[in-house]
Amino acid sequence: MDVREPVVAYVALGANLGQPQAALAQAIDALDALPYTRVTARSSLYRTAPVDAGGPDFFNAVVQLSTRLPAPVLLDALQNLEQAAGRERPYRHAPRTLDLDLLLYGDARIDSPRLTVPHPRMHERAFVLVPLHELAPARVGPDALAAVAGQRIQRLDA
Ligand code: AMP
Repeated sequence: MDVREPVVAYVALGANLGQPQAALAQAIDALDALPYTRVTARSSLYRTAPVDAGGPDFFNAVVQLSTRLPAPVLLDALQNLEQAAGRERPYRHAPRTLDLDLLLYGDARIDSPRLTVPHPRMHERAFVLVPLHELAPARVGPDALAAVAGQRIQRLDA
């Protein structure tokens, strides 16, 4: 199950229902508790306007992982955590309370039916690029940040 060398991966977290800040804090703890995996850095917390959706503002963050899990196994784990948070949905078909995206997995380029890495839409989204830039500025070009400069995003903590 574990790969030989640890890989540095980045995961984006988002939530806009229930208690989003608590959901993100729980998710970060759960990521740190995954087998062969450690959370090695976390971005500030951000509040952002919904993109492609109505509803309340989102809370977003990005974490850096050191993991020996293969990327598809890590994706399984992210989806399990999303589903676990979803069980707390207040009503049937309510939007998800937790969204987890695998942004980067080392320098890997993956294009399989269920997993694309780098995440295909990360460069369109300030709520991903701004926190990722905090942790890994070399992985986010200045042009990419400039391209999303019009999107509303507020840093909540340092
Ligand atoms: P979403 O509803 O935006 O969270 O997308 C979930 C779907 O995207 C799932 O079917 C995943 O298999 C797929 N997917 C493809 N690439 C990724 C990625 N890098 N991170 C998370 N989900 C991904």
